[in-house]
Amino acid sequence: MTETELCTLADQAESALSERFLAIDRRARALTERVLCAFQAERVDSACFDSVSGYGYDDRGRETLDRVYARVFECEKALVRHHFVSGTHALAVALFALLRPGDTLLCATGRPYDTLDEVLGDKSENPSSLKAFGIHTRFVDLALGGAIDEQKLFASLNGAKVVYFQRSRGYEDRPTIPVKTLADLFSRIRAAKPEVFIVVDNCYGEFCADHEPSFYGADLCAGSLIKNPGGGMCETGGYLAGSSRAVELCADRLTSPGLGGHVGATLYQNKAMFKGLFYAPHTVAQALKAALFCAKLFETLGYAVSPASDEIREDLIQSVRLRDPDKLIAFCQGIQSKSPVDAYAAPVPAPMPGYADEVIMAAGTFTQGASIELSADAPMREPYTVYLQGALTYESARCAILEAARRTLACGRP
Ligand SMILES: *Cc1c(COP(=O)(O)O)cnc(C)c1O
Repeated sequence: MTETELCTLADQAESALSERFLAIDRRARALTERVLCAFQAERVDSACFDSVSGYGYDDRGRETLDRVYARVFECEKALVRHHFVSGTHALAVALFALLRPGDTLLCATGRPYDTLDEVLGDKSENPSSLKAFGIHTRFVDLALGGAIDEQKLFASLNGAKVVYFQRSRGYEDRPTIPVKTLADLFSRIRAAKPEVFIVVDNCYGEFCADHEPSFYGADLCAGSLIKNPGGGMCETGGYLAGSSRAVELCADRLTSPGLGGHVGATLYQNKAMFKGLFYAPHTVAQALKAALFCAKLFETLGYAVSPASDEIREDLIQSVRLRDPDKLIAFCQGIQSKSPVDAYAAPVPAPMPGYADEVIMAAGTFTQGASIELSADAPMREPYTVYLQGALTYESARCAILEAARRTLACGRP
């Protein structure tokens, strides 16, 4: 294929997506308005960007940010902190906060994301795991096709203290669980068991739908600030948002019983967290468009992609089944070569702790590991599927995806 032919295909892919791009822009506008209203209602001003040192008592910025998040997530309370080192940390704090020895955690969407394995401890012998504290975990495997097995879920509900959902597909071959599906399940779970805590791993899902799971009654949504809600502005951090009863338990677990959310020096991170939330609906829209463009272009080139360009899309992850190790490497090197940072580096497959196969990762990001920025990664195994996510700007991502296509094509036809 000539360069001109590839550019024509890219233009055609983009034109074919114009309706979907418009819908993404419309949602970004509505969500931006919600964010702005929250800022205004909570009287965000430049004093919120000041920092308090030491214990961090009376940090107006920190307290205001929590309330702003609660408004945006349409729930009672939120805990937004740079003290969360990652999404996994926020999720672990949530589970240890809600569960007590003898309690049962019911995972409604099959096995959670890989990094939760040691938190649950059912596979390993980690002495700090939930299992080591006498907390049981039960899994409701997903039904064929990746939907929630509702019958099995309701049959397993008895005795569960926490029901746990992972909204995003993560790096599994299953669809994202739509928020509307979650909403329906939440109300039926509440009707059957009013006291149960509903926890959602909301990673990659924020601002991809009109409302977050917290709006529909989840006790906790958890996520990372170097993903969607950080808008590409946060250097680190995580959040929890949901019901007062759940968030207060989490605050006491994050700091100390009795201290809760009333302490914690913010060390000049507040401004980045406010600014990131301000940007988030826009940045997420950039990333959604990038994922759609990638889906459409590689569909046109003859590859199986997931989600397909006409499927519903409520998270940032796009997979492309390349079916060839050389193409996989070429794709990742193409993404890296058009990144703003470390473009001169060429990623190669390497062993990674915790993974059976070698892994290749392309990430020329400003912030280490920030997957709201464009990145691509894959385990080196059949069917050589690459996972692409994030984009600070659609334009830069388009450029990188086009280069990935160029280099993939140079390795031969699908
Ligand atoms: C990213 C992610 C997490 C948390 O990962 P961290 O790297 O610890 O922030 C959890 N679940 C899902 C589905 C994720 O995508």
